[in-house]
Amino acid sequence: MANTVLITGCSSGFGKATAHEFARNGWNVVATMRDPAAGTEFSEVPNVLVTRLDVQDQSSIDGAIAAGIDHFGGIDVVVNNAGFAINSIFETIPKAKVQEIFEVNTFGVMDVIRAILPHFRAKHAGTIVNVSSGVGVFGLPLASLYNASKFAVEGFSESLSYELSSIGVTIKLVEPGAAPSTGFPARSGSETARLDVPEEYRDFIDAALGVYKGFRTGADENVIDKVAKGIFAAATDGSDRLRYVLTEDIKPMIKARRETSEDEYVAYMRGVFPYGRQK
Ligand code: NAP
Repeated sequence: MANTVLITGCSSGFGKATAHEFARNGWNVVATMRDPAAGTEFSEVPNVLVTRLDVQDQSSIDGAIAAGIDHFGGIDVVVNNAGFAINSIFETIPKAKVQEIFEVNTFGVMDVIRAILPHFRAKHAGTIVNVSSGVGVFGLPLASLYNASKFAVEGFSESLSYELSSIGVTIKLVEPGAAPSTGFPARSGSETARLDVPEEYRDFIDAALGVYKGFRTGADENVIDKVAKGIFAAATDGSDRLRYVLTEDIKPMIKARRETSEDEYVAYMRGVFPYGRQK
């Protein structure tokens, strides 16, 4: 019998591409999204069940898991992909937005995992792939809340790996870098960083956005497919490896974080990104 994956956030970007990647490889796919109307293209793909899952709505999480088990006879892998970014000056971001980003990027991941664990525990098997980010490993300017939400996912997943190993469940963290061709920037909108911020931050914002623009123009065009393949490989390699860096662009920063001293790492990052008073 084919294996089954449930993926959150399949309406666009990495989630959509990952659903296609699993389906291409003969898997059953529970392609979940907030609005199933966004998943009409999957009606052409065999063994894909499109169903509603909003990570901020527990009944929709429970419903999607039950529908997947009912339709395909079980779930073997869960990919927690749904998420969004806010790129702006922390001081200007209202508390409701702070709560929303944690609700989706961090607590949403926890709620999906809590809901699938009884099924995995009963089978003494299962794999969870959490889509983190380079920003789950190193801090970037204008990304304080997104950074915080992904750092939390990293620490949560690493700690959880110990207790889940005792019930036969594997957890993995995948770390993609920048993929400007997903729907991501539209929702996070780095251009919004320029709006409604105190004058004192403007030179800093311009300098930071200038560095990001350089990264964007250098970004790999096939990055979405590469990330989808990387998620599939992490989910199916049969190992209990915890972390996977999925794109080239973040490797220098990951290397600085993981292979140099704290002082060297901080000096490196402050050499790449604006630090201190600009102009
Ligand atoms: P995307 O195209 O904007 O996709 C994000 C997905 O998350 C969409 O399907 C969106 O659904 C869904 N989503 C948002 N809030 C949700 C909620 N409350 N419940 C369920 N689904 C929700 O962006 P992406 O780049 O593919 O992002 C996917 C993941 O990769 C995210 O976790 C992101 O943090 C991570 N990531 C992205 C990048 C990048 O540069 N793009 C880099 C590293 C990591 P709607 O269509 O309903 O909004």
